[in-house]
Amino acid sequence: MENMTHEEMLEATRRNDATYDGTFYVGVLSTGIYCLPSCKAKLPLIKNIVFFATRDEAIAAGLRGCKRCKSEFYPNVVPSWLDDLVAFMRKERCNKIDESKLAEIAKVDISTIRRYFKLYLQNTPMAFHRKLRLAHARKLIENGVDYLTAAYECGFESSSGFRDAFTKEYGLPPGEYFAQRSHRL
Ligand SMILES: [Zn+2]
Repeated sequence: MENMTHEEMLEATRRNDATYDGTFYVGVLSTGIYCLPSCKAKLPLIKNIVFFATRDEAIAAGLRGCKRCKSEFYPNVVPSWLDDLVAFMRKERCNKIDESKLAEIAKVDISTIRRYFKLYLQNTPMAFHRKLRLAHARKLIENGVDYLTAAYECGFESSSGFRDAFTKEYGLPPGEYFAQRSHRL
């Protein structure tokens, strides 16, 4: 907050800019709540807004955390758009997606999306989507679909690309993987 002007903070709050989360808190005097800059709750009248450098200062001023943006728990907060993105990826597990579409859905910039994916899902968004595609392909194969069809169904453009991705994810190429499993069953 030190190097930020009141205008900049207000502007970031207006844009729900998640890149500012943690750098300052938005206190709302009329409701007695403090928010993250990214909070999607309706912006209060400007005269009711006070900015705080830290959460402790907001609490010391008698404000409490917001249920919507879970400002109390930041940065250990799973933003609601993360659930939306995972749901979208599951739905599109057979299709190619790109990061710009994710940013469009979440209404958050892609670097923020990547940061949260790394934090909560230990993957980049694209790697996470690939895992979903592979898991779906594996299920198809288990249900008797042949490898090539499964690979194609799940958006892999070549059998070698599928084989490489599968091997990386499950430790064995698909042929051996399923041979071992059927052996075990
Ligand atoms: Zn809030």
